[in-house]
Amino acid sequence: MAKAYLVGAGVASLSAAALLIREGRFAGTDITILEAQDRLGGSLDAAGSPDAGYTMRGGRMFELHFECTYDLLSSIPSLDDPNKSVTEDTFAFHEDFAWNDRARLVDSAGSPVDAHSMGFSERNRLDLVACVGTPEKRLDGKRISDCFTEDFFTTNFWYMWCTTFAFEPWHSAIEFRRYLNRFVHLFKTFDTMSGIYRTRFNQYDSIVRPLLAWLKDQGVNVQQNTTVTDLELAPDDDITVTSIACVRDGARQDIPVAAEDLVFVTNGSMTANSTLGSTDTPAVLDASAPDASWRLWETLAVKRPGMGDPAVFDTSVKDSTWGSFTVTTKDPTFFKLMEEFSGSPAGKGGLITFKDSQWLLTIVLNHQPHFHEQPADTFVWWGYALFPDRTGDHVAKPMAQCTGREILTEVMGHLHFAQGEQIIESSIVRPAMMPYITSQFLVRKTGDRPRVVPAGSTNLAFIGQYAEVPDDVVFTVEYSVRTAWAAVAELLHLDRQPPPVYKGGHDPKVLLEALHTMHRH
Ligand SMILES: Cc1cc2nc3c(=O)[nH]c(=O)nc-3n(C[C@H](O)[C@H](O)[C@H](O)COP(=O)(O)OP(=O)(O)OC[C@H]3O[C@@H](n4cnc5c(N)ncnc54)[C@H](O)[C@@H]3O)c2cc1C
Repeated sequence: MAKAYLVGAGVASLSAAALLIREGRFAGTDITILEAQDRLGGSLDAAGSPDAGYTMRGGRMFELHFECTYDLLSSIPSLDDPNKSVTEDTFAFHEDFAWNDRARLVDSAGSPVDAHSMGFSERNRLDLVACVGTPEKRLDGKRISDCFTEDFFTTNFWYMWCTTFAFEPWHSAIEFRRYLNRFVHLFKTFDTMSGIYRTRFNQYDSIVRPLLAWLKDQGVNVQQNTTVTDLELAPDDDITVTSIACVRDGARQDIPVAAEDLVFVTNGSMTANSTLGSTDTPAVLDASAPDASWRLWETLAVKRPGMGDPAVFDTSVKDSTWGSFTVTTKDPTFFKLMEEFSGSPAGKGGLITFKDSQWLLTIVLNHQPHFHEQPADTFVWWGYALFPDRTGDHVAKPMAQCTGREILTEVMGHLHFAQGEQIIESSIVRPAMMPYITSQFLVRKTGDRPRVVPAGSTNLAFIGQYAEVPDDVVFTVEYSVRTAWAAVAELLHLDRQPPPVYKGGHDPKVLLEALHTMHRH
């Protein structure tokens, strides 16, 4: 029987393993996942406790058309109910707790602003339509800022768009255009965020844990602390992996790969080199050499054409870094004040962005409990800043140098709550610094990402955020799952392909609504 080896244990690999079993009829025991770190789930992390403070580098938002993700997770039982799939649980949660944001943008006086209008000039609208209509190839090497005038970056639309999806003006126009096309159906509810879906708990608890449990039930082998350093290729012009070189718990190990075996590599990782701080210590930016996920890609990229160019994504840390923080408290004051301030109960309010803040701060009050084992007397919320290298408005330091306490002091400065000091003193704040978090958005051109199955490959596929599939958008769980499905379908020559990428722009009703929204006052 053919065997499959998956490099990495992020959601791309876990999905590929599940799809090999579900679509490809592999036995779980013939699948091995090799992960460098001592924990699983890759960028879909969440950990901690009420006493040490919870941590999650990200809070991931979904929407209705994560077609591959929902299809896959409809086969995976949810954490609490074996008769309910993860997809059913996510949809049920959306029914009960859909967002209805009433304070999406907040100004420097600490007052919510009316974000119903996108704030466009006629020129902004024309530039937006032109960007959407430009063929992707013509945007090769272009930044978003090459396509718009400066005032575009101070519109309500931009503040909402960039903080929802983590774009910065110097990011890739190709990616921005893909996002506009892919999420055009979200335009009309962009201020209320009611089109956004969330999982019931953080995504480690709601997705990674159930998926891992299912895979382990099927007998899939998972090896942690195993760094893949190289893939040996057969000495012909094709791409055929013959052996996997790894270091497991410090010892070199070579895994022979037969011609009929399959190898899936998650090349690069947006959370590579990320660091955590504490209430009293900053999360120190790690700008040293990128980790194993990038090193393996760098090693492979020089072996054959068609393997992409990792240097496009892993050599501009200053353009791809941002920071987030998770706050844990047993004092209900902050949640009470925020519910009054935002006009929404916790878990229904959506993102709140301090649009004039130097760091471009955004916070979100999660539905509680946000961690599966979180006790009822504990509250957890999350925030992030797109410009961590700028000096704060209330703390005279860049966020990247701030302790958790200082980050919370900056947030309180923007909220003007009289109880700010009490809230700071009763909170545990865990900052995270992520040098490659938006590396997948850096300016690129066609060919910088390898195709999922590179030309000439007989048994190697690339999956995750840095493999190329047409039309869909990176910085999403959906993209990783889609690459996994495309890889499994192509390498196994399956009839059943991944569901097509949703294209709202092909629906006249969606287009009309979007145009109407662009003209809202
Ligand atoms: C702050 C933040 C916010 C986010 N917001 C959203 C959102 O709103 N919506 C959304 O859909 N998505 C969001 N995401 C993105 C989503 O989490 C990622 O796209 C997804 O988790 C990536 O999964 P992956 O498996 O492709 O890669 P990763 O999760 O990065 O996994 C790669 C794994 O492979 C391992 N690995 C790589 N190379 C090797 C090697 N050579 N040897 C051994 N192991 C190796 C790495 O150690 C890592 O564990 C967010 C992510 C973050 C961090």
